[in-house]
Amino acid sequence: MAPASTRSLPSPAIEAHPDPRLQPIVDKIRSSGGKVTRARMAILEGLLAGPHHATVEELEARVRMVAPDVHEATFYRTLGALEELGVVYHLHFQHGPSIWHVAGEDHEHLFCQACGCTIEVASRDLEPLRAAMARRYGFVLDTRHFVHQGLCRACAARPDTNRGS
Ligand SMILES: [Zn+2]
Ligand SMILES: [Zn+2]
Ligand SMILES: [Zn+2]
Repeated sequence: MAPASTRSLPSPAIEAHPDPRLQPIVDKIRSSGGKVTRARMAILEGLLAGPHHATVEELEARVRMVAPDVHEATFYRTLGALEELGVVYHLHFQHGPSIWHVAGEDHEHLFCQACGCTIEVASRDLEPLRAAMARRYGFVLDTRHFVHQGLCRACAARPDTNRGS
């Protein structure tokens, strides 16, 4: 049987220069009574290290780079625990795999059905919609769980773009 870790990886830059966005997340975990474990930190660092819309496979690969000893079961359990703590969440782009995101970045996502671009918009811009749903229907609308689909400015301006009638 091979030992758990036979590779010695160079210390990654993200450990040498902790991301300033990490501290408020760590504070939130602690204030919720959660522990700041190595696996939790590796996942948060992984999410903050690259493009912030990561599939679970991409995220796991990033975590492997900094913490190769975090096993798959631990990775999934830890990701779920972080979501319960409200510091990460997942969202869906169309029918693709879920995308993982750190919470507290105050943006939501628009997706252009014609060219496939993603546009980040301020979460407060969707507040009137959430407020109207709450007022009229008593419904607490989760606007971030799915991207909002439509046409970007460029595609909406093209006469040939299919607007769905
Ligand atoms: Zn985003
Ligand atoms: Zn979901
Ligand atoms: Zn477009």
